[in-house]
Amino acid sequence: CGIVGYIGKRDAAPLLLEGLQRLEYRGYDSAGIAIHSSGTGKNAGLKTAKAKGRVRELESRLPKRFAGGTGIAHTRWATHGAPSDENAHPHLDAEGTVAVVHNGIVDNAAELRAKLTADGVTFVSETDTEVISHLVGRAQGATLEEKVREAVAVIEGTYGIAVLHADFPDRIVVARNGSPVLLGIGEHEMLVASDVAALVSHTRQVVTLDDGEMATLKADDYRTYTTEGSRTSATPETVEWAA
Ligand code: GLU
Repeated sequence: CGIVGYIGKRDAAPLLLEGLQRLEYRGYDSAGIAIHSSGTGKNAGLKTAKAKGRVRELESRLPKRFAGGTGIAHTRWATHGAPSDENAHPHLDAEGTVAVVHNGIVDNAAELRAKLTADGVTFVSETDTEVISHLVGRAQGATLEEKVREAVAVIEGTYGIAVLHADFPDRIVVARNGSPVLLGIGEHEMLVASDVAALVSHTRQVVTLDDGEMATLKADDYRTYTTEGSRTSATPETVEWAA
C-alpha cells in the first residue's frame, strides 16, 4: 500500500514514521520499518520492527537502539495472508541480510514459494512479498542491482519495491512495475515513496519511475535504468504542493 525510504545524514526512523503518517489517509492494516543500524558489533546490520494496526503502534514498538541513516518503511493493505505482525513488511531473507517492502501482488507467488520451499527455504509469513526477499537473498549477482534484477526477472505481477541489503549499506535499490515509485532528490539525502505526499516536506524535486524501471539511491547520487540494465534519463520535475 505505502512505501517510504530514506538515505542520508539524518536519523532515518523518525523521518520514515512521519512519512508513513502522511500515507495513512490511503488506508492500511499494518506497518513496519527496517534500517541499516549505525551500531557496531551485534548492533550492526539490518534491524526491523513491525506491528499490526496503526503507525502509532509501530512507533511504540521501536527498539531503543534504532539509529541509522538508511531505512525503508511500509504500510500494508493485505492481499496474501491476514493482517498480522508476521505478515507486515519489511520481509527478510533467511539470513536476515535482505529487507524488502512491496506494494502490489506477485501473481506467481504460490509457484515460486513451492520452488523455494523445495530448495529448503523456510517461510515465516504468508505473504507473496516474502518470495521476493528470498529471491534477492539467493541471487547470484555480485551487486545489489544485479540481485534485484534477477529477482524481478522471475516475478509476474505488480510491484513497487524498495530493497536494503546488509552488505550494501550505501544504497537503496527500488523497482517498479504497475505500482508507483517516486524518487525525492534532496541535498545530500534521497527519499523514495509511493506517493508524493510523503516527499514534499523534504523536497519538491521528484523523479517518477516508469514501469520496467529501477533506481539506485545513495545519499549524494541516484541513477535510473531499465530492468535490463540500460541507463534511463531521470531529470527531476519540480512538484507544486500547497502546504
Ligand atoms: N501483496 C502484498 C501483501 O499482501 C503487499 C500488499 C500492499 O500493497 O500493501 O503483503
